[in-house]
Amino acid sequence: MRIDILTLFPDMCYAVLGESILKRARGAGLIEINCRDIRSYTKDKHHRVDDSPYGGGCGLIMQTQPIYDCFMSLCEELGHRPHLVYMSPQGKVLTQERVKELSRLDSLALLCGHYEGVDERVIDEIVDEEISIGDYVLTGGELPALVLADAIARLQPGVLCADEAFENESHFKGLLEYPQYTRPYEWHCIEIPEILVSGHHANIEKWRRERSLERTFLRRPELLLKAELTKDDEEFIRELERRQHSDKD
Ligand code: SAM
Repeated sequence: MRIDILTLFPDMCYAVLGESILKRARGAGLIEINCRDIRSYTKDKHHRVDDSPYGGGCGLIMQTQPIYDCFMSLCEELGHRPHLVYMSPQGKVLTQERVKELSRLDSLALLCGHYEGVDERVIDEIVDEEISIGDYVLTGGELPALVLADAIARLQPGVLCADEAFENESHFKGLLEYPQYTRPYEWHCIEIPEILVSGHHANIEKWRRERSLERTFLRRPELLLKAELTKDDEEFIRELERRQHSDKD
């Protein structure tokens, strides 16, 4: 898969893309992530890419021409038009489900706004979808684009050590993950749950499933409405509800 980030701050993105798992994945050719500098497409003789808003108000708005030409040059290079996402606090809030869907595309382009945002006409003309990373406002779309690129990259085959590495994680199947522990066995007089050193894999799996359901029930109960649950899961949740009611009484 190839992701192209359209940005005024490519170095900010490369700083993140050049570290840790993303660096290794890119180096091994498991995913290609490039940045395209929107400023290098401006036709303004002073290299401006923004101007003040019509109708007044503070801040600057990114202009149509550099963004449009930047995207068209990408389409020309790829030989096709990639799905273009504008990272925006006005978009649909990102979910693991949408990450999974986008991770199946061959190519994806992410447009990062900055300052007060982007001239609406270029959004209408070239953007396929707007995605937000949460109901708060950041200074630019670079961090949101990196969040999305990271979430997609870790789902590409070979990026993590095994598919189970993400399949059991929070949100992948609609639940939060169970608690995890590592050495030492005892820390600050707290031992890890005994079952995890029992060597009994079926019991460990059952314990993990129940902890995962319990956490989701306590922290994000609304997720249970959409999660894939077995009959045993449903019975366990009813038991949690009974316990919750008797604690209140
Ligand atoms: N004036 C815009 C508004 O009120 O909707 C906000 C502009 S924001 C300061 C600048 C840029 O940051 C946006 O164009 C967008 O690309 C990015 N951005 C800010 N918050 C975001 C969020 N929660 N999710 C995705 N992108 C965001």
